[in-house]
Amino acid sequence: MRIVLFGPPGVGKGSQASMLVEKRGVAHISTGILLRRAIREETELGLKAKEYVESGHLVPGALVRELANGALREAGFDQFVLDGYPRTIDQANWLMSDLEENDSSLTAVISLVVSDHVIVDRLSKRRINIRTGENYHLDYKPVPAGVPEEDVVQRKDDRPDAILHRLGVYRKETYPVVAFFRERGLLHEISGEGSFTDVCDRILQVVDTGD
Ligand code: AMP
Repeated sequence: MRIVLFGPPGVGKGSQASMLVEKRGVAHISTGILLRRAIREETELGLKAKEYVESGHLVPGALVRELANGALREAGFDQFVLDGYPRTIDQANWLMSDLEENDSSLTAVISLVVSDHVIVDRLSKRRINIRTGENYHLDYKPVPAGVPEEDVVQRKDDRPDAILHRLGVYRKETYPVVAFFRERGLLHEISGEGSFTDVCDRILQVVDTGD
């Protein structure tokens, strides 16, 4: 399985990617997680990316390509789920050529579709564990007992202004990537609404049967 999980911020890509890690043993490659780690560790790349990430802007493509490619290499360019990459047509072209150069290719791109009000609800009530990267939702996935309070924060880019900005960026820059993958016969559009398990079943159906 070599897939891209695609969709707007807050659609549940991260949680569903974790599900695929657990159920199918693939590597989860999230450029958002890699960037937040680099920022926390104050690496050179992290310092360059910080302002963009915290304000909800796209990080310059070359930085993200470097991160994604490093992680793909670690995974041997096989058995991976990409989450949050590619986010522009340029990035989609880079991904295709980086895979091809390493005798690899995508098996599917799964695009999760949800309505805007669901996204705003999910993002504004999302909290993140800064140690593990795990996401919670104030209503649907409360912070488990025993997790130290100081480890759980709201992402700066999950605040209302940044959410609106990120949705605008998604429509303008990222959505065209859907057509890119459709033209290449890789796109599977599925509903991201309903319970976590419903969405999970739809994803596994595509992954396991190609439908
Ligand atoms: P995410 O965790 O996927 O929502 O990503 C959080 C933030 O990281 C985004 O709003 C961007 O600032 C940055 N980011 C993540 N992936 C990319 C990417 N592929 N291209 C540019 N910026 C990215």
